[in-house]
Amino acid sequence: MKRLVLATRNAHKVEELRELLNDEEIQVLSLEDFPDMPEVVEDGDTFAANALKKARSVAKVVQLPTLADDSGLEVDLLASAPGVYSARFAGSKATDLDNNQKLLSLLKDHPEIKERTGRFKSVIALVMPDGLEKVVEGSCEGLILTELRGKSGFGYDPLFFVPEYNATFAELSMEIKNKISHRGCAFRNIVEEIRKLKTDN
Ligand code: IMP
Repeated sequence: MKRLVLATRNAHKVEELRELLNDEEIQVLSLEDFPDMPEVVEDGDTFAANALKKARSVAKVVQLPTLADDSGLEVDLLASAPGVYSARFAGSKATDLDNNQKLLSLLKDHPEIKERTGRFKSVIALVMPDGLEKVVEGSCEGLILTELRGKSGFGYDPLFFVPEYNATFAELSMEIKNKISHRGCAFRNIVEEIRKLKTDN
């Protein structure tokens, strides 16, 4: 495996994977290298269904090993919502702030922080041109605060508190976030799978 495609236009995700694959002599391409690629509608009920749908449809076009990820936040008091709807929790045009405010309002009857447990989850699918598929997962446990804290990151970062670091994701450096995050963990797991494929072939 000399080249693989990460099915995203998010430069940060591409950079993170490139760093992890640094020693493997694998060139990581992204959708920026395939500007005509049609958008894939993420309409699955699970992170895995969405990641697989994206990876399969891009792999079919590019005919290269392809990775795709899907991620989101699961809150236990909300029966794992927003889950696959994380990006559009407060509506199809919702901003991060809209989504955070909706989350806060749904949890307002539960002010006790230790009850507000949840996790970020990331699922990554690898689809090979010969049809071989691997799916891995990563997660990061935390608590949902009652107000926003911190300025960096995106999405639900300012509400997601990690007790071990006494900080929200929006207060952590990128380096620490990548080390402990759901996506960092899933990326490391898929890199393991890629290494195994290389030694098997
Ligand atoms: P995606 O699958 O990476 O596009 O993420 C879908 C949605 O989940 C995002 O729009 C965010 O609302 C949420 N999300 C995923 N990962 C993170 C994260 O690391 N921090 C904050 N929000 C996230």
